[in-house]
Formats: sequence, C-alpha cells, structure tokens
Amino acid sequence: MIAAIGLGSNLGEPEGNVERAIGRLAEIGRVAARSRLYWTEPWGVADQPVFINAVVLLQTSLGARELLGELKRLEGELGRGDTFRWGPREIDLDILTYGDARIDETDLVVPHARLFERAFALGPLAEVDPRFREAYERLPAAERAGVRAASG
Ligand code: ADP
Ligand code: MG
Repeated sequence: MIAAIGLGSNLGEPEGNVERAIGRLAEIGRVAARSRLYWTEPWGVADQPVFINAVVLLQTSLGARELLGELKRLEGELGRGDTFRWGPREIDLDILTYGDARIDETDLVVPHARLFERAFALGPLAEVDPRFREAYERLPAAERAGVRAASG
C-alpha cells in the first residue's frame, strides 16, 4: 500500500527534525517519493514559530492502524514531548492518505480530517501526488501564500 505521510516540526531544529524523521520512515516502509521542505505559517494556534512541513509517499506492508502505531513510536523517539493540539512540536507525523482507504474511527481518520483545509499539507502532497493539485488550487490564495517551498 502507498501511504502519504505528512511531517511537521517547529521546535528545536525543524529542518533537521523533518529530515531525520524521513530517514527513520525507511524503518517502516520504502520512501517512494518525498516533497521539498516547506516553510509554513502556524495554523490553529498562531503565536508560535513557523513550521517546516513535508510529505513522503511511503510504500508499506503495514496496515493503517499498525502504521499509526509506528508513527507514534517514531514521534516519541524523535523527541516529541507533551504538546497540545496544534501547538509547537518537535515532530508531527500524520497519515494523510492510505491508498484509497476511507477510515473513520475515533483515533484514526483517513484521509486526514483536515487535509482539504490545510495548505501546509495539500501543498507538499500535491508536489508528490498530482491528483491533489486541483484541491490545492481551490484553497484561498491567502492560505496558499502562507506555504513556501524552502529548498529545491
Ligand atoms: P494534529 O496532528 O492534528 O496536530 P496530534 O498529532 O496531537 O494532532 O494527533 C492527535 C491524534 O490524532 C493522534 O493521537 C491520532 O490518534 C489521531 N489521528 C486521527 N487521524 C489521524 C491520522 N490520519 N494521522 C495521524 N493521527 C491521527
Ligand atoms: Mg498528528
């Protein structure tokens, strides 16, 4: 199965945190594609440092729930301390899509519940998966303006 994993960090050394996390994803699948790094303005809770975001397409034999468990393990090992929802964090790993699966459980919603509102997720996802370009283009220009590719 191909899963799109959204990565985000705005504490410590965000670029390094995201690159390190991408490296660790190789433990749980094969990295088939990765976006550039993006600088993005904080969302939800505005008074915090800017985020670095990226998206990886991960080919994995894990089921969606197992994959979520592994991502939570990696978040813990990569130094994610106690945080609050939408607050600053060393690393956030989200399942954006899992093949064409639709999952609606209390602790796992796929496609990610806020994917289609978030330029910081849709922008890098559209870079690696062209099927999402239209959805990205439909976002308000002001939101797309808050998301800029940080590296070529
Ligand atoms: P957010 O990513 O929205 O900032 P958190 O990272 O704190 O919030 O995640 C809170 C919970 O969201 C996780 O414990 C997880 O169980 C749940 N969750 C639901 N759907 C997903 C998904 N598609 N990917 C990752 N976590 C998810
Ligand atoms: Mg998360």
